[in-house]
Amino acid sequence: MASKRVSTKSRPAHQPVSVVTGGAGFLGSHLVDLLLSKGHRIVIIDNLITGSTDNIAHLAGHPDVRFIKQDVTEFIYLPGEVNYVWHFASPASPIDYLELPIQTLKVGSLGTHKALGLAKAKNARFLLTSTSEIYGDPLVHPQREDYWGNVNTIGPRGCYDESKRFAEALVMAYHREHAVATRIVRIFNTYGPRMRVNDGRVVPAFISQALANRPITVFGDGRQTRSFCYVSDLIEGIYRLMMSSGKEAHLPTNIGNPHELTMLEFATAIIAATASKSRLVHKPLPQDDPKQRRPDISRAKKNLSWTPQVTLSDGLKDTIAYFRGKVAKP
Ligand code: UDP
Repeated sequence: MASKRVSTKSRPAHQPVSVVTGGAGFLGSHLVDLLLSKGHRIVIIDNLITGSTDNIAHLAGHPDVRFIKQDVTEFIYLPGEVNYVWHFASPASPIDYLELPIQTLKVGSLGTHKALGLAKAKNARFLLTSTSEIYGDPLVHPQREDYWGNVNTIGPRGCYDESKRFAEALVMAYHREHAVATRIVRIFNTYGPRMRVNDGRVVPAFISQALANRPITVFGDGRQTRSFCYVSDLIEGIYRLMMSSGKEAHLPTNIGNPHELTMLEFATAIIAATASKSRLVHKPLPQDDPKQRRPDISRAKKNLSWTPQVTLSDGLKDTIAYFRGKVAKP
């Protein structure tokens, strides 16, 4: 991304500077778009192992965007002022972190350490993207932030779950020990344009299968549940959390949509929304696949006045339109 600075009369006198790790990923790139609309100058740091420059290609040459291809587990050197560090870098789909277990553990631990170090050095506010995975296969439903979780540390998902649990602990240590202004968002399942067609997650899998009239692969009996949040709702919630300053601002905050569906119901909704001829086929349930997941969003409602606005049918329309352009019909 070219980054020549040009003066623009409409810019505020003080333009906030944001660093977005993982800014070429699905969620990171949507955050970058929102921050640009709020007048921020942005440095994106991404090693592109799961992100893609396709997600930020529309920003090429933008005077307020700089792209650095770097692994955030390495020391981050940036001259000048930084006001906000948004730590989004991490593989996040079960297939990705199964293939990249060591990078996943490293970015949650060493990468979070480097990103926190940058925030501390610059006296910047810091936000960690944590995850509903820290609740594991939850024994409490819906999941509130004060539930400690049920995680198999040595199972196939342990590399992701534990990297994020460690990251949360590290963030709280920087908050307590170094008085860094920190935020922790626990992200529940999110969908929308810029998800990778082949990232293995249920939304791109079902939509691409339905669009090609191929069998829809339901894992297990399909009675496990998830609750899907549209990406614009999620990014708005995360932005509000970073900008909030109440006495609970440093506490983990669930952001997600409480509308809960079984995977069978979700497959049926995708078939209807795509007018597909696909049928359902069952495949083995992956090990440690959580049986149920739904966020309790009382904290976000109370502290951020945030609730999701986009219905599943509206969100799916945009997402399906995006995937239509990516999936070849047989
Ligand atoms: N799933 C499925 N078929 C697929 C991909 C996923 O039935 O082709 C199921 C998966 O077993 C899980 C749910 O969909 O119960 C959500 O999976 P995803 O990989 O999207 O994310 P997770 O919520 O497990 O992190």
